[in-house]
Amino acid sequence: MASTIDIQTTTKKKQKPLQHELGFGIHFTDHMFIMDYSEGKGWYDPRIVPYQPIVLDPAAKVFHYGQTIFEGLKAFKTEEGKVLLFRPDRNIQRLNRSNERLGVPHIDEDLALEALKKVIAVDQDWIPTEPGTSLYVRPFVIATQPALGVDASTHYQFIIIMSPVGNYYTEGVNPVKIFVENEYVRAVKGGIGEAKTAGNYAASLKAQEIAKEKGYSQVLWLDGVHRKYIEEVGSMNVFFKINGTVYTPKLNGSILDGITRSSIIQLLRHWDIPVEESTMSIEDLYNDAKSGALEEAFGTGTAAVISPIGELNWRGEQLTIADGKTGEVSSKLYDTLTGIQRGTKPDPFGWMVEVTL
Ligand SMILES: *Cc1c(COP(=O)(O)O)cnc(C)c1O
Repeated sequence: MASTIDIQTTTKKKQKPLQHELGFGIHFTDHMFIMDYSEGKGWYDPRIVPYQPIVLDPAAKVFHYGQTIFEGLKAFKTEEGKVLLFRPDRNIQRLNRSNERLGVPHIDEDLALEALKKVIAVDQDWIPTEPGTSLYVRPFVIATQPALGVDASTHYQFIIIMSPVGNYYTEGVNPVKIFVENEYVRAVKGGIGEAKTAGNYAASLKAQEIAKEKGYSQVLWLDGVHRKYIEEVGSMNVFFKINGTVYTPKLNGSILDGITRSSIIQLLRHWDIPVEESTMSIEDLYNDAKSGALEEAFGTGTAAVISPIGELNWRGEQLTIADGKTGEVSSKLYDTLTGIQRGTKPDPFGWMVEVTL
């Protein structure tokens, strides 16, 4: 597809927040990308415009039936001023897999990548540079047809917004406490767990709230049929190092295929650390934690990269992992992956994609 992205910039620039006060997803840049879809016409009118509210009919299908999908990725500015994106092709492919599952029309992947690069280039001075900071990029699609009939929308919008985000770990990488959720589930095989869509998040909020009240920062999700097999932690994939081998639940139809997850598997293989994707029961994990075989545990995702787990609570029993500290492999993975992303470590897999400014 030939480039037809129209660019309309604003001279009314917002005041930028201080880099140590960024937080996550609070501040938004000066511009956004937007493109429309209508049945028969396809995707049309890709454009970069000043960041602004979108006006939707109250009957727009996204509000009623949740036909929406999203992505999340980061842009980094290196010390030499280069702008790098981490594996954006993977996000765009997953965007289309989510689209497919939710009945949303396919988006041209070259155009989506061009849109990402262009809108980032337009707002390049919003990319923070302090350690741990980045520009979080949020592409999403919403169903906009104003009609209450239950079928796939005939109209959509694809939008990209961007937010400068702070260091996730302001006081160093800190292990979190996790509550194993036995009652609520986030997804079941055959449902939408594999898709990055709002409904999965809506389904997770209540359990998350209960865990928070009990003093835990996230929940460990078990499978929806048996409440037996480990799936994910919060909105991250999860890994366990047991007797020298690193395990992660295998993709089974209800687990989200994380890009951080697959990058970590690749890195571990590269280092000759044994890694296995397997079906993991919470009972076995409990026994491994009791016997001392469980050496490390961590969640993985774009926002935190690696989030070490220092404690698990299963049925009222507290299990401490790695003495509540960050394990050696967790630490090495965090340093390596964030180093590759910031351009301070070699990128042997060609993961980083440069945005030409
Ligand atoms: C986005 C997401 C992840 C992490 O995926 P990354 O591509 O690594 O950011 C894991 N689980 C869920 C449920 C997610 O939505």
